[in-house]
Amino acid sequence: MRSVLISGAGIAGNTLAWWLARHGFRPTVVERAAGHRSSGAPVDVRGPALPVVQAMGLVDRLRAAATSVTGVRLVDGAGATIARVSMAATRAPGSAELEIPRADLAAILHRAAADDVEFRYDDHITALAEDSDGVDVTFARGAPGRFDLVVGADGLHSAVRRLAFGPEPAHVRHLGVWVAGLPLGGPADDPYDVLLYNTPGRLASVHPARGSALAAFIFRGPMVDDFDHRDLAQHKRLVLGAYQGDRGWRLPELLDRVRSADDLYFDSVSRVHLPRWSRGRIVLVGDAASCVSLFGDGSSLAVAGAHSLAEALAAADHPVAFGRYEADHQRRTEPKRRAARYAAALLVPRTRLGLATRNGLARFVAAVRR
Ligand SMILES: Cc1cc2nc3c(=O)[nH]c(=O)nc-3n(C[C@H](O)[C@H](O)[C@H](O)COP(=O)(O)OP(=O)(O)OC[C@H]3O[C@@H](n4cnc5c(N)ncnc54)[C@H](O)[C@@H]3O)c2cc1C
Repeated sequence: MRSVLISGAGIAGNTLAWWLARHGFRPTVVERAAGHRSSGAPVDVRGPALPVVQAMGLVDRLRAAATSVTGVRLVDGAGATIARVSMAATRAPGSAELEIPRADLAAILHRAAADDVEFRYDDHITALAEDSDGVDVTFARGAPGRFDLVVGADGLHSAVRRLAFGPEPAHVRHLGVWVAGLPLGGPADDPYDVLLYNTPGRLASVHPARGSALAAFIFRGPMVDDFDHRDLAQHKRLVLGAYQGDRGWRLPELLDRVRSADDLYFDSVSRVHLPRWSRGRIVLVGDAASCVSLFGDGSSLAVAGAHSLAEALAAADHPVAFGRYEADHQRRTEPKRRAARYAAALLVPRTRLGLATRNGLARFVAAVRR
């Protein structure tokens, strides 16, 4: 029974823990947060993730937690509809696609794994020392331990990646876009449509989520020298500065919410580039290995990648298994990573001309789907 330490109880970490336990491994998951949060940006479960969650017996639980969104509506500065693109065909009950708040997805995956996996919350890895038989691990709070394998499933700002592969700037590339999000604390006026308001280089949106609406701000801007993904005051400055002077749609009200927020999510939209996803007995999965950020099915890829890694480890020793997992999963992530810039161009066009072209395209798609 091989012991595996997984850093991160997110989408990839919980999925991997479930599958490893099923294959007779002894997984331990260490999570930096003190517990699960109850909302988060809605993410998709589709494509290669669907057979994985079906095999885990989770589809009914995921459907019960899914959002009721069936369309995306582009609005102008006065709130009038420019185009409404229906997603009813892919989001209808029984369809092959689900949208679920990210933390709810992680919590459902966690509950599935909890009986067979040891979880340690409010702790994180501080040092890794590998030899030919295992990895000695030091934690910020808990007692040190020794594991056969260590997996970094700790997201875009992975500590395992930093400890095993080097500092973050060597592997993480800012795509020139920032994202912020916050809960609005009440239901959206429209429970079925995501509303998007664009100006060149900026997007503001309201998502109905599951009865408690979420606002998001996605805007273009270069990396800032002293960016700190945990500095709330800096995040507020960056969002408020980017939308300064724009009073269209619901922006004055939404920006007031940013000013008073104490739980603003904020990050750089980035891609992760690594020549290899493993080193010795240490391997990365999910955003830690191949982040495509919000433009490329990251949550579905996290589920599918975790499953591929578990299956590879069940079939072969780690040097072979890590290579097979990487080859298998790279085929899924590479096209998404390459497409990220095009997705960004559609969601946040840079110029008035780009915006007009995108809106024309949306009207065409809306007409075709009607
Ligand atoms: C605003 C936004 C919208 C998105 N929309 C979509 C979408 O519509 N569709 C889609 O498919 N994807 C979407 N994504 C991407 C998707 O959320 C990620 O790709 C996915 O969550 C990656 O899963 P993961 O398990 O690798 O990482 P995460 O879900 O980020 O989980 C990482 C876990 O590790 C923990 N952790 C972090 N550091 C440490 C540490 N040092 N030690 C221990 N634990 C640690 C974190 O607390 C977290 O629990 C979106 C992302 C964002 C930011």
